[in-house]
Formats: sequence, C-alpha cells, structure tokens
Amino acid sequence: MSFITISALRSILGARAGRRASRTEGQRAGKTAGRTTGLRAGGLAAAVLVSLALLTPAAAQGGFDSWKRSFWREAHAAGISRRTYDQAMRGVTLDREVIAKTDNQAEFVRPVWDYLERVVSESRIENGREKLREYAPVLHQIERSFGVDREVVVAIWGMESAYGAVLDNHKIMKPVVRSLASLAYDGGRYKSFGRKQLIAAMKILQTGDVDARHMMGSWAGAMGHTQFIPTTYNAYAVDFDGDGKRNIWTSIPDALASTAAYLNSSGWEAGKTWGYEVKLPRGFDYSLGDTRRKRTLAQWSKLGVTRTEGRDFPRPSDEAFLFAPAGAKGPAFLMLKNFEVIKRYNNADSYALAVGHLADRLRGGDAFARDWPEGDRPLNDDERKSLQALLNRLGHEAGAVDGKIGNQTRAAIREYQRNSGMAPDGVASLSLLEMLQGG
Ligand code: CA
Repeated sequence: MSFITISALRSILGARAGRRASRTEGQRAGKTAGRTTGLRAGGLAAAVLVSLALLTPAAAQGGFDSWKRSFWREAHAAGISRRTYDQAMRGVTLDREVIAKTDNQAEFVRPVWDYLERVVSESRIENGREKLREYAPVLHQIERSFGVDREVVVAIWGMESAYGAVLDNHKIMKPVVRSLASLAYDGGRYKSFGRKQLIAAMKILQTGDVDARHMMGSWAGAMGHTQFIPTTYNAYAVDFDGDGKRNIWTSIPDALASTAAYLNSSGWEAGKTWGYEVKLPRGFDYSLGDTRRKRTLAQWSKLGVTRTEGRDFPRPSDEAFLFAPAGAKGPAFLMLKNFEVIKRYNNADSYALAVGHLADRLRGGDAFARDWPEGDRPLNDDERKSLQALLNRLGHEAGAVDGKIGNQTRAAIREYQRNSGMAPDGVASLSLLEMLQGG
C-alpha cells in the first residue's frame, strides 16, 4: 500500500521534494521511484532513536506523560479547550511502532513502471468500475457541485485507500491522536509535523465531527477514505450527505465530495484531462524535456509531437510540459494543468500519472500505447556517482561526482549516447550504466 505516507509527505516533505524533483530529470526519476526517499530520518533523528532505545519502556512513557502535560500550553494557545485536550490525551501512550516508521532509511529505486503496474492493477480497475456503478448518483452530484470528473475522484479513492479496503486493516489503522502525539514527542524530522497535525486533530475533535475513538488513520495521521491529514481535513473536508458532520471515515459521499472539493480548490479545470500520451518524432531533441519548460500544445505539435491515439489536441493553446521518465525507451506524456492539481494531493509525478491513468482506465481507456523498459530502472545514489565517474573518464564532462543528475551530467549522457548511436535522451538508467561499465 502506498497510501500510508501520501498525505504526510505531501505536507511535510512535498514542497521541498517537488522543487528538488523539478530540478532534474534524474532526480525526478529517483523520486518517482519512491517518494519514500524523503522519509529517511536525519542524523539527529537517528541519534534520538538510539537514545530512546536505551531507556526502559517505563522511563520512555514517563517522559511522554510529562510531555503530554507540557504540550497543553501550545494546544491552548491554538484554541483547544481544556476539555477537548483532556479527552483527547486521556490514556494515550507512546506508540513505538510509529517512531520506528520514521526511521525508514531505504532509498528505493523502484521505477515508475513498477509502481504503475502495482497501483493501477487489473483488480483496482475492476473494483473502481464497480464503485462507479454503485455510487453513480452521488458521483453525478459531486461532479455538478465541484466540476471534477467522477473517474478522477474514484481513481484517487482507489489510490488512497483501495476504495476504503485499507480502513479495515487493523495492522495499519491507528488512533490518530496517539500517532501524532508520538511523532510530536519523538518523531525526529516529523516532530513539528506531529505537533501541527496533533493540534489540527484536536480541532476536529472540538468540532464534534468525530470522536477520538473513531478518528483512525495511518501512522502519519492520514485519515479515512481520502487519507486527509488533519490540516487538509480542516481546510477541505465537506459534509455532503447532509447529516451535519464531515465524515471521511464512513460516509462515502462525504469522503468523495471532500476529494473533489480539494481538487476544485486547488485549481481543477473542469472538462479537461490531465495530459496525453504522445509520440515523439525520430531525432527528437530530449533536452526540450529537461526542465519544466511549458509550451502550448500547438508548439509541441510544431516540434512533431503527436498523440498516440492519432487525434488532434482539442485545445492547442493549453500549456503542457513533457514527461518521459524512461526517455526514448518508454511512453512520453504532455502534462496539463490538472496533472499539477492532482499533485496537490501527493506531490509525486508517479502518483499523478497513476491517478490520471487509472481514471482513464475506469472510463474504458486502454493501457499506454508504448511499453515501459521492463527490467531497467533509475540509478541509486552510488550508481549515479559511478555513472558520472565513468562519463568523466571517457571525456564526457559530467561535472562533480556528486550523484546529482543535473544539466551537465545529462548533457554528458546525451553526448555519450549520440557517439554510441543511441537515442540521446539523457536518462541515467541502469542499462546505460551497465553499458558504460562494459566499456
Ligand atoms: Ca456527513
């Protein structure tokens, strides 16, 4: 399940990760491979975890209890009442599982295509189509109220909670106050996130929309069918079934309308798609896809870019950027404004592409026209450094051996690819590294 960190990362690391990702294609691929990269605890967090491990459980709980008393002042200053605070914190113990989650050090190099295969599975498509039928009347109302296509709303539902199936998983679902208090107390780089979200969670309790016992979520506090973190809930959740409560945990109308409300507030352009799979002409200059440089669809057409479906772009003046995570070896896309709106939900290209594609499949659309390079993948940090060193040794100026695939490294890759008779897409893939290593 990818949903656990989605909202959390969107909020804490999303903006920063997004900037990083937009800097270079290679890094984009890295993040695409796993937004979990951002989950690595910092050195300080690791040190705190080690020191905590040396404490006895009772001592750790004692520290947590005294923290709970001291946090009252901050909560009170934010408008939480004594009654809400006491009810929320009563009996809450430190959740060591939550703390352990913050120490995920793995740098995943899973390629976007593996991710897509997993999250846009046949069963998810099937289940989604069933949900479209089952909730057709309410989805119709949601479309009319918020201007967001039903397929996109249902696709996000599928991505975030497998249409609610994960909410029944007691191994994953945790009491939100306990998780957030644990993060606020000892969550390393999640500490300030935990504090802010804990106060937002108490504000939810104060409204009476839900009580603490039913306010369940992921270890990072992502809640309900839509996996909203508390601040997102406070900003965007809506009561759509009219019972006076915003219930994203057990009311499907509330949950789906909340998703649509969030997209609508984020600038969703009604009646438009997220992007197009496109065909690039032979000899295409991949440096045009290096940055987030947008061009109108008419300009892309002039460069020889066409839809794989053969049809014309319906609105030639719309602006789009090129996204081709596997370079010349895989599908390419022109991404429109709504792609970026989906990323407000989770700031990862892979996520937004999966949502868009799942929505298209729910609508009856086909799989991508181009195949992905199965077996190939983006490089991890050490491999990126090896690649840079090899390129430098061969006289292609890749710049500093720092594991960052910037413009200079990509230019060096393209030079090498051109000299070797390959399509110069500048993508730092495993197959390219192996080729270089083979001499
Ligand atoms: Ca409601």
